[in-house]
Amino acid sequence: MTKVALMGEIHEDGLQILTESKFNYKNITNYSHENLKIELKNVEAIALRTAELPQNILHECKSLKIVSRHGVGYDNVDLDYLNKEKIALAITGSANAVTVAEHVMAMFLNLCKLSKKSDIIVRSGQFNLKASMQKNMLELYKKNIFIIGFGRIGKALANRCKGFETKVYVYDPYVETKIIKENNFFPISFEEGIKIADFISLHLPINEKTKYLITKKELSQMKNTCIIVNTARGGIIKEDDLVWALQNQIIHSAGLDVFEQEPPKDNNPLFALDNLILSPHSAALTLACRKRMAVETCKNIVHYLNRSSELILSNIVNKDILN
Ligand code: NAD
Repeated sequence: MTKVALMGEIHEDGLQILTESKFNYKNITNYSHENLKIELKNVEAIALRTAELPQNILHECKSLKIVSRHGVGYDNVDLDYLNKEKIALAITGSANAVTVAEHVMAMFLNLCKLSKKSDIIVRSGQFNLKASMQKNMLELYKKNIFIIGFGRIGKALANRCKGFETKVYVYDPYVETKIIKENNFFPISFEEGIKIADFISLHLPINEKTKYLITKKELSQMKNTCIIVNTARGGIIKEDDLVWALQNQIIHSAGLDVFEQEPPKDNNPLFALDNLILSPHSAALTLACRKRMAVETCKNIVHYLNRSSELILSNIVNKDILN
């Protein structure tokens, strides 16, 4: 019997873990509900990239014991149903934080140094236009960084910001202030953080409380030199309002790795803005990170099903429900 279904391609280093553990697996490429109901019926584990696993599909997975996400977000799986059926949900908690944090640093630096515009100016023979860029070129040194969400990625980013001699402010209502302070970072309220920030980065999940956390109201309270980056989830910043803020120079610029609709439509008004850089939800897609995620995804499956003590318990999202 096939033990593991792979929904989405993963690096071969992960597949090797399955093979070494004598777990057979199959790739699923047809995500139609009819096909998924047949293909997933008898598998014990699903390694899941970005495809959706709603309740009506999960209901047909009669042997399923674990869904192992290749990543840390799990808004594509019906967690309530998994909890009800005592099916484990695993994530790759230690694999991608550093990679996403580096992506944010790259966006911060690109935006404040006007890298995109600089490149265009040189290539198009307009070298002397550099004078016109001066007033918009910024630096990180001694600036206020405001990190919203102090989990794995938020912490990795805060540590990287230290090297640039910045002052790091953190808002996370679920993290004790002493944990923020012990690393020489500064706890701050959401409202205050928005006002004093030179750079803002979002590292929290999307849910009913965080959808449209940043709208016209918050953007209007930011410094007009503020740079905001979202690598968390599309919809935490209201996209239409961000377009408005960038068009009207309410803030300096923005970087987005995630969108309200992915992929965004061809006529998305974001594409017309030059004070914005975009990436295709690729913040964690370095080769090294993909290898780590594939290995961790498969180790979660093998260790969970083998009841091994090597299982990283913090990777099991619903461990309290499973006991
Ligand atoms: P995490 O669970 O380690 O941390 C999330 C933090 O957000 C927690 O500390 C939590 O307390 C905090 N939080 C929750 N609600 C909040 C609120 N209302 N205000 C402030 N803080 C709040 O998650 P992580 O691994 O750091 O990932 C963070 C985000 O990045 C997630 O949305 C995840 O899906 C996304 N992500 C994106 C990519 C990418 O490729 N772009 C890759 C990995 C993760």
